[in-house]
Amino acid sequence: MNILFIYPGPDISYPIQLGALSAFLKRYGHQTALLELVVQRRLNATHWADVRKAIEIFRPHLVGFTAYETSFDWIRELADYLKTQYNLPIIVGGYHATLVPQEAIRHNSIDIVCRGEGEYPLLELVTRMEREEDTTSTPNLWVKKDGQVYQNPIRPLIEDLDELPFPDREMLDYQRHLEMGGEGDRNVKLIASRGCPYDCTYCSNYYIKQLYPNKHKYLRMRSVDNVLQEIEGLANRYTFDSLGFHDDNLTLFPRWLEEFCEKYPHRFRFPFYCAARPETCSAKTLRMLKNAGCNLLLLGIESGDEQLRRSVLNRRMTNQSIIKSFQTARRLGIQTWSFNMVGLPYEGRLSLLRTIWLNFQIGPDFAMTSIFYPFKGTALGDLCYANNWVNLQRRSSVGSYAWDSVLNHPHLSRLEIRLAKYLNTLTALRGRGLLFKAIRGRIVNWLRHRMCRWAGPA
Ligand code: SF4
Repeated sequence: MNILFIYPGPDISYPIQLGALSAFLKRYGHQTALLELVVQRRLNATHWADVRKAIEIFRPHLVGFTAYETSFDWIRELADYLKTQYNLPIIVGGYHATLVPQEAIRHNSIDIVCRGEGEYPLLELVTRMEREEDTTSTPNLWVKKDGQVYQNPIRPLIEDLDELPFPDREMLDYQRHLEMGGEGDRNVKLIASRGCPYDCTYCSNYYIKQLYPNKHKYLRMRSVDNVLQEIEGLANRYTFDSLGFHDDNLTLFPRWLEEFCEKYPHRFRFPFYCAARPETCSAKTLRMLKNAGCNLLLLGIESGDEQLRRSVLNRRMTNQSIIKSFQTARRLGIQTWSFNMVGLPYEGRLSLLRTIWLNFQIGPDFAMTSIFYPFKGTALGDLCYANNWVNLQRRSSVGSYAWDSVLNHPHLSRLEIRLAKYLNTLTALRGRGLLFKAIRGRIVNWLRHRMCRWAGPA
């Protein structure tokens, strides 16, 4: 069967989760294609022309989407178009479909919702479709047929990730995709694990974990050799400059990390970045990463208010451990990016200042600062909806939660939240010594000015 994946998003980014599904389907003899759509605010005539072209060339039997809450409006619109123009069956998976399946299946043009890991459910679906068998009892799927929705239980997690094929990068012109980064910045995205053992309240992980019968196996790593084999294949096939591990946390299994850091530099020279929880970044861990070629570490802070971070976000780490991890990384010559959120529920002005102050202290190379968005199906998102803090009108008009808060915040104005975002982003100037240089420049100019006035005209 021909399966077309359509991926609308605000920028070009290889959707590795769709690559994983595509590779799995191809292993069993199916054909796949990917249509990436870069959407700024609304879908336009060019997008519709691209969709028509993809359908006419590829002639799909099924169209699939992976949905985030923030892209779901576009998916609905695309699904309507595909249904009315081509009457194609449409399946939607991903975070949003898994967390709020009732919202996805309610939409007329969406026929099937996939919850959780999609490899086996999707394979079973297309096999049944091909054999013209009943699809309504396929595990993981909610299937709408003759106005009725069939909800099926979720199969266990795939425990051995090495059994899966490497993500398919042939579903698009991957070299061209890499070249978009520009020479020196051609970065290959990889994933070495699935799952996360933590339960942060704003994240989908906690809820998704609960869906599985074998949830104690939620965090899984591929073997080091399997990851290295994938990198070798990529290096033989493509030209690129660096690697990026898009795992939630790469430092959770010390033994895995040790083996990786031991083997990787013997075979490859590509610098890489990865994400980690600050409290897992001991000096030993960071030294290993540095020696293996890690040149950038992405560390989640989220809030500089220790109490709020613990009680509202359920992130149990101290500011001290955060400061230490950033300092150690810098001492070893690893660049750092901090990840932060402002406009959180229960956040006040003092908490905002604490976030800015913590970032100022650690001086990251980049302080990524998002405005809190209440994702449905997460503990904190549901709390916001239950308390009527979400401004529904603003939620549908705000194109990207990066720029405005969708909450009617009880303690903070929208302006304060936006201001905190920009101020916090500026703290990165300190990490690069730019803030110091800017302040020093201002002081020198001021002194020069005073001296000139004191000395009078020459
Ligand atoms: S550590 Fe990151 S991925 Fe894990 S639950 Fe928290 S936010 Fe989610």
